[in-house]
Amino acid sequence: MSDQYSMQDPRTQYPQVSPGEQTQPEPGLDAELQPPADHGEDSYRGSGRLEGRKALITGGDSGIGAAVAIAFAREGADVAITYLPAEAEDARRIASLIEQAGRTAVTIEADISTSAECDRVIREAVEGLGGLDVLVNNAGRQIWTPSIEDISDEQLDRTMKTNIYAMFWLVRAALPHLEPGSSIINTTSIQAYQPSPTLLDYATTKGAINTFTKGLAQQLIEKGIRVNAVAPGPIWTPLQPSFGQPKEKLASFGEGVPMGRAGQPAELAPAYVFLASQESSYVVGATLPVTGGGITA
Ligand code: NAD
Ligand code: MG
Repeated sequence: MSDQYSMQDPRTQYPQVSPGEQTQPEPGLDAELQPPADHGEDSYRGSGRLEGRKALITGGDSGIGAAVAIAFAREGADVAITYLPAEAEDARRIASLIEQAGRTAVTIEADISTSAECDRVIREAVEGLGGLDVLVNNAGRQIWTPSIEDISDEQLDRTMKTNIYAMFWLVRAALPHLEPGSSIINTTSIQAYQPSPTLLDYATTKGAINTFTKGLAQQLIEKGIRVNAVAPGPIWTPLQPSFGQPKEKLASFGEGVPMGRAGQPAELAPAYVFLASQESSYVVGATLPVTGGGITA
């Protein structure tokens, strides 16, 4: 277990992941990930920074979204998470951690690749939480392909709809519920700046998410709503072994960044807490990189 608070060398704060060979169907499960990822279950300490907030996190069942859900709950927020039908086991685990923090957990099974489902997600989150003031657009899919010629119409459509269309749909549906002081946080990626040749469709959506964030931020600050993004580097989550990377690349996952290791979901949560909380009142339209030193310019 890592300690997130004592001063130490960040290079060795978490072990080198060195994953063995593994493949999961899409979407992957945290329950099947080897080695298991660290979402801050045993380490994250809240200090009331989100007391009374009502947050929706898409894809909060696993990976980065799960770490954010745990941190938000321990900071005092009630939390709704979305998950896909195959992810019920992961979603239940995170819901019970939210409840153990003394907060309300709302779980919404939904595929967000249609506007009707995005409308329903917002409706159920607002009903379950009794309002909404933090929206974390985190769900995403990443399927590697060797060449543009291998990207089928279906894959292109599904990646675009899940990763970027859904952000338009969810924000549009959420807006009537968001009071001044609300915060929207979008998960982009280092792929927006350094696209891997094998992740062409995915990286394109991540570039779009950055631009969407900057434009939307200017629009919504006129309502007192702040919009920002977080750009993770290589993070050990079920996205990677479920066709997110070629199998042979998995063994050295994350070694290419200056930190020399993959990040853990737990290392992302504080960035989202900062952007959700009132402490970041003057931060608008920003992308906060959490990349282990990978350059985002
Ligand atoms: P993850 O697999 O744990 O989370 C992704 C979640 O997206 C899944 O749990 C799933 O519930 C959801 N999702 C996928 N398709 C969906 C659909 N059609 N409808 C509804 N939900 C859907 O992996 P993660 O790495 O934690 O991913 C979270 C975010 O972080 C994604 O946006 C991803 O692009 C981004 N990201 C990840 C990395 C990384 O290295 N892991 C790096 C940069 C950015
Ligand atoms: Mg998942």
